Amino acid sequence: MLLMTPGPTPVPEFIRFAMAQKSVHHRTSEFEAIFSSAREGLKRFTKQAEVLLLASTGTGAMEAAVTHFCKTRILTVNAGKFGERFTKIAKAYGKNPLELKYEWNTPASIEDIESALKSDPNIDAVAIQICESAGGLRHPAEEIAKRAKEIRSDIFIIADGITAVGVEPIDASNIDALIAGSQKAFMIPPGLAIISLSQKAVDHLDKNGGSGFYFNLATELKNQRKNTTAWTAATTLVQGLDAMLKRIEEIGMEKFYADTRKRHTAGLEALKAMGLFIYPKTPSLAMLTVLHNDAANLRKWMKKEAFVNVGGGQDDLKDKLIRINNMGLVEPSNTAWSINALEIALHKANIRTFDGVGSKVFCERYFA
Ligand SMILES: *Cc1c(COP(=O)(O)O)cnc(C)c1O
Repeated sequence: MLLMTPGPTPVPEFIRFAMAQKSVHHRTSEFEAIFSSAREGLKRFTKQAEVLLLASTGTGAMEAAVTHFCKTRILTVNAGKFGERFTKIAKAYGKNPLELKYEWNTPASIEDIESALKSDPNIDAVAIQICESAGGLRHPAEEIAKRAKEIRSDIFIIADGITAVGVEPIDASNIDALIAGSQKAFMIPPGLAIISLSQKAVDHLDKNGGSGFYFNLATELKNQRKNTTAWTAATTLVQGLDAMLKRIEEIGMEKFYADTRKRHTAGLEALKAMGLFIYPKTPSLAMLTVLHNDAANLRKWMKKEAFVNVGGGQDDLKDKLIRINNMGLVEPSNTAWSINALEIALHKANIRTFDGVGSKVFCERYFA
């Protein structure tokens, strides 16, 4: 079965091997060397001052960012399940979120952010997804971060880059907490969250200390500067992460990003050539997202007969979206096969006569 869901992504063989090495104790120089290498590798991705690894899924890092970088009120952007999650976290901690709500296919507008910030001087943090995975949508997060800082220079910007870091280069110069996760572009199993910090965020933690206990970022910062963790590290996952970061550097980060973009462009054109409707107005490179009334049945056929598991939607769009992963080291042949399988599924469902145009356009655009 080909796993082509936009997270968890398949774990490549070289990463499985790296994680199959003998267990190392987390309080040893052997592990500290691996941990240090992974941390330095991540810093080359985010180009930020610090990076912390947490033993949790991405949501743990979202929660830690909200508890540490918002004191009075947070502005959240809800254009899907993950933006909604920031609102829920903020509510759980009494941060009185001001939520901007959008259709799941619609990116946040800079003007809306501006007027929201101007409407309430108590807003001291903004939380936004770079890619909102619910609809495969790319928000103009970097521009929003820049504008927000122009309006309020001491504001903290929290960016959920879980389906953006490792997908495309992110300009993190106005982002204070950039979040990533293990099971998306880094292709390691779920359970490791990454939170990359600006110098301003680091200074804030050093000066004010952290909050909470397990997800106390000041405690983690103190430890991780010495390449150890406050609690037991997710040693196996860190070994996998380090292997992936090294592989990407062997390939070359620019080529890695260029391949992701090329697969995405070729995939979008192939799907359009099949007459399909691309759901997000600003598609994220993380996935190929199609809106179709028969999405649930098409996916079912693809899985049962073509052995390819692609993602569906959530909530109201549960049976209406098809999301094909494009994060990580995806073989172009796997993207081509997924598109081809979808085209056959459309034929089997008497929706469209198969003519092979999906595969043809993908191969022309990608290889020719
Ligand atoms: C996957 C994902 C998350 C994290 O979800 P977890 O289940 O906690 O790993 C957060 N934000 C986005 C945009 C995601 O795609």
